[in-house]
Amino acid sequence: MKKLQILMFGAPGAGKGTQAKILSSERHIPHISTGDILREAVSKKTELGLKAKAIMEAGELVPDEIMGGIIRDVLFSDKCKPGYILDGFPRTINQANILDGILKEIDEGYPIVIELDADDELIINRLSSRRVCSECGYIVNLNSLEDPTTCPNCGAKNSFIKRKDDEEDVIKNRLNVYHQTTKPVLDFYRNKAKIISIDAALPVEEVAKKITVELN
Ligand SMILES: [Zn+2]
Repeated sequence: MKKLQILMFGAPGAGKGTQAKILSSERHIPHISTGDILREAVSKKTELGLKAKAIMEAGELVPDEIMGGIIRDVLFSDKCKPGYILDGFPRTINQANILDGILKEIDEGYPIVIELDADDELIINRLSSRRVCSECGYIVNLNSLEDPTTCPNCGAKNSFIKRKDDEEDVIKNRLNVYHQTTKPVLDFYRNKAKIISIDAALPVEEVAKKITVELN
C-alpha cells in the first residue's frame, strides 16, 4: 500500500486535531501534533528537545529550525514508515520551506493537504463556547452538552472554566495571525500537492466521512 502522508490545515478551532485522531485510528498511521511531539522531545531529553526546553524556559518561542528538526526526527522514525498525519506544522511559509527540505530527503512525494474550511464567525462561535473542566481537564463545547453544568467525563458540578485562549479578543487575534501568516501556506501547496477542501461547519462525523471518501 502507498504511504499515506497527510497534512491537516485550517484555522484554530476548525477541528484539525479531532479529524486527525479519527483518521489516525482508521488508517493506523500516527497523528503527529506539533504540541505533542515537542513535549515528547523535551521529556525524552533529545538534543533538540533540550534546546527547545531552554528556549521555552526563557519565555521565547521555539524557532522554526528547531521545530523542523524535531519534526524531521519523527518523520524519519519507524512509526512514520506507513505514513503520518501532520497537525500544526507548517504554520508559516518559512516552516513550509523547511518541511519541503525534509520531504525532499524522505523522497516520497508531497503529502495530501486536507483543508478544513471555516469562516471566522463559526470559529469565534465554536471557541468562545468551549470550556475546560477544572477537575479533570476535559474539554467541552457548551452548545453540545445536554447539561451544561455537569462534566460528562468526571461528573463534577459547575467545574467548567474558560481558558484565556478562548476569550473572544484572543480568538480574534489568533484568527488574524492565521489569515496573515498561515493561510498563505495553502497557496504554497496549491500547485504542488493534492488539496482536499472540506466544509468544517459540518458535524464531526460528516467531515470524517467526506475525508474518507476523498482519500479513497
Ligand atoms: Zn471533569
